[in-house]
Amino acid sequence: MKKIGIIVLFVLLAAGTVCFLPKPAGQKTGGKLTVVTSGYVAYTLTRQLAGEFADIIMLLPPNAEPHSFEPTPGVLVAVRQADLFIYISDTFEPWAKDIAAGAGKNTQVVKAAGAVPASADPHVWMDFDNVRLMAKTVEEALVVQLPEQAQTLAQNLAEFNEQLTALDDSYKKGLSSCQGREVVHIGHLAFGRLAQKYGFTLTALAGTSHDGEHSVRRLAGVVDLIKHHHIQTIFTEETLSPRLAQTVAAETGAQILPLYTVESISKQDFDNHITYIDLMKRNLDNLQRGLKCQA
Ligand SMILES: [Zn+2]
Repeated sequence: MKKIGIIVLFVLLAAGTVCFLPKPAGQKTGGKLTVVTSGYVAYTLTRQLAGEFADIIMLLPPNAEPHSFEPTPGVLVAVRQADLFIYISDTFEPWAKDIAAGAGKNTQVVKAAGAVPASADPHVWMDFDNVRLMAKTVEEALVVQLPEQAQTLAQNLAEFNEQLTALDDSYKKGLSSCQGREVVHIGHLAFGRLAQKYGFTLTALAGTSHDGEHSVRRLAGVVDLIKHHHIQTIFTEETLSPRLAQTVAAETGAQILPLYTVESISKQDFDNHITYIDLMKRNLDNLQRGLKCQA
């Protein structure tokens, strides 16, 4: 049974990867840039800033795990045909670092988090100040490719920054007065920066990557914490299997609400062009519900 599951998963991943490769012709179509992005964070940022000026390809298929993704050899061909290859950082996506190294001289390689101060937690986009730096880096790269569109690109950046300011305000206000401040996340440690910034404590089931720390002992510890602190809501990672969270919920009576890492995206949200801002608004809504905050 397990073997069949792995084969099915492999086929799905392979199919997904093929779907997200560009057309073989490559290069600029209709005056547009061809931009290859590593995963959803790079994709949604680029889409927001480039707007209609770029055809954007995402290497990581929807629902796939970004930390230890293994791209197919064909990916390098796609990247070499692109005008730009945009990824987040070497620590977050070591596989993208390898692709960047083989990109070739015709492709401009952009490390979106290149201007973000170094830190042990690779989930840099969970801090809106970092996202500003990342957006600026991406915008500058787009201007290099499309200098004649510099004004529109600068305007897109300004609009995005305004949205980030509004989002930051909503988080500050929305999480300032809550009955609880403990977030128990049945997923990996992706929300550490958000917790630090907006003053809630965070317990996650795994470390900063999906590194197989979902041990029975750790799970038991989380269950004890929930019972001991009378926590009524647990948060899950939307693109992970709900089985673990359901087990914890059954054991403790807690309700389940999703949090969105942005690094992974469901197929439905991808198809509906759900943005970084949209996902972070959902996160705020669910944190407010789970922590019982005054609106
Ligand atoms: Zn992660």
